[in-house]
Amino acid sequence: MNGSELLAMQARRSPHQEAIVSNGNRVTYEEWNHSVNQLANGLATLGVGKGEKVVLHMPNTEEFLYTYFAVQRLDAVVVPINAKLVYDEILYIVEHSDAKAFLTHDLLFPQVAPLADSNLICLKTGGAEDGWRSIEALMKASPDTPRTSTTTEDDEVALLYTSGTTGKPKGVLFTNRNIQTVATMMAIEMKMEPDSRVLHMMPLSHSAPLHLFMMSTTYVGATHILAPTFSPELLLDLVSKEHVTHFFGAPVAYLLTAKHPNVKDYDLSSMQYWVYGGAPLGTEEVEFVKEQFQTDRLMCVYGLTEAGPNGTLLLPEEHKGKSGSIGRRPALNSEIELVDENGEPARPGEVGEIVLKGKGVMKGYYKDPEKTHEVLRNGWLYTGDVGKRDEDGFFWVIDRKKDIIISGGVNIFPKEIEEVLQAHPSVAEVAVVGIPHPDWGETVKAFVVPQNGIEPSPQELSSFLEGKVAGYKIPRVYENLEALPRNATGKLLKHQLRQAEAVKEV
Ligand code: ATP
Repeated sequence: MNGSELLAMQARRSPHQEAIVSNGNRVTYEEWNHSVNQLANGLATLGVGKGEKVVLHMPNTEEFLYTYFAVQRLDAVVVPINAKLVYDEILYIVEHSDAKAFLTHDLLFPQVAPLADSNLICLKTGGAEDGWRSIEALMKASPDTPRTSTTTEDDEVALLYTSGTTGKPKGVLFTNRNIQTVATMMAIEMKMEPDSRVLHMMPLSHSAPLHLFMMSTTYVGATHILAPTFSPELLLDLVSKEHVTHFFGAPVAYLLTAKHPNVKDYDLSSMQYWVYGGAPLGTEEVEFVKEQFQTDRLMCVYGLTEAGPNGTLLLPEEHKGKSGSIGRRPALNSEIELVDENGEPARPGEVGEIVLKGKGVMKGYYKDPEKTHEVLRNGWLYTGDVGKRDEDGFFWVIDRKKDIIISGGVNIFPKEIEEVLQAHPSVAEVAVVGIPHPDWGETVKAFVVPQNGIEPSPQELSSFLEGKVAGYKIPRVYENLEALPRNATGKLLKHQLRQAEAVKEV
């Protein structure tokens, strides 16, 4: 069943069930489905049809949920993009995706207003503007006659762009089957029920919030609690007032919230699963969060957009002694393996590339068969993550393959050096990359953001590393920066640091 039909089914099964809570507004499944029919009928009159790409530029608001399902009900393809992207990044995706229509929110409109000059069908929430139709007006003028999506399990229904930490964002194509697989997996793993209340505070334009959480909530007919931006107060407030049962956030969201001075005054006892992913949380961090939130319900998900995104889970009861790992078992309907450079299973104890298999894995990259072929081989998705498996069978991500430094033929994992430097009192943030070297191929460079404006000297940092990492891993070059380059989701852009070095070389 495709996502849009699923919503229609939930509206028939439990029409009066609370479906959406957004900025004080409460919407039932029946009302939601009704709005989706109106919008789908309206968009059809504008010429949006099967297979066409429709960009959604929306924060986490109820309009996101109306537009997402309306596009799928038309058998078109949703292209949700991060609300924080800048104009040039948006233009890249609009052009690369061959978008037919662009739907934005009033709050974000000023930034994208010039798109009206293109051939796109442009719509926005709130009032109409020059070249932009009003979504509400279109809905009002359109009948709510039920429309039925006809897409099959193999049809492409979503195109998500990767966050672009390793280069230009790549368009990842998903079929109904991909999305259904990861959504049902997550609903089962997180024991979701119709009375679950799921808080969506991370951008719904990304695969984890979208497929693992928004779609699973819809699959079980539970309640979506929407928050357009992240703040520790809002998170604590919504969890306690709305009796939230499930939440997904990046590790940094957990750390910031755990540091909130009044965290222990909030009643967080409704929470069943505090889920984090995208990066690990170390042992001390996990213990800190657990203590501050007074919970032992932390769950880690590991994956990447291309995997749907989920690959493995570290369950709450598995955290003891294994925090920082990505768990020992693949998510339901998935498989995980470690392979060497020849694609052969790595020997026990050997470091290798993590490969994943499962029906959640993307169909391929949009308009890029070569790159698709590079990562989808023999039925496996090559993740580009280098990892190891410990004696208890737990997998650990060591680093990303593209970030490994090869100096004098020896592999150096930047994360190992970063983890040590991060503990230096004058280091707020650090990124280690390989820079060109005439004799060794590459040498190690550390970019440091000083803590409280106190710039640590290279000698000080090198002595701090001595004895903690082998001599050849100690950076030969250091540079202080005011901030590290990050994308709209806060992920570090190491390729920009490397590119800046390459330019210096020339
Ligand atoms: P791009 O492909 O454009 O560089 P991206 O890879 O940053 O974008 P995502 O799919 O959001 O986009 O990131 C996936 C990567 O995040 C994984 O390959 C892995 O390196 C890292 N990651 C995800 N979850 C975890 C986790 N639980 N622990 C450690 N690393 C993780």
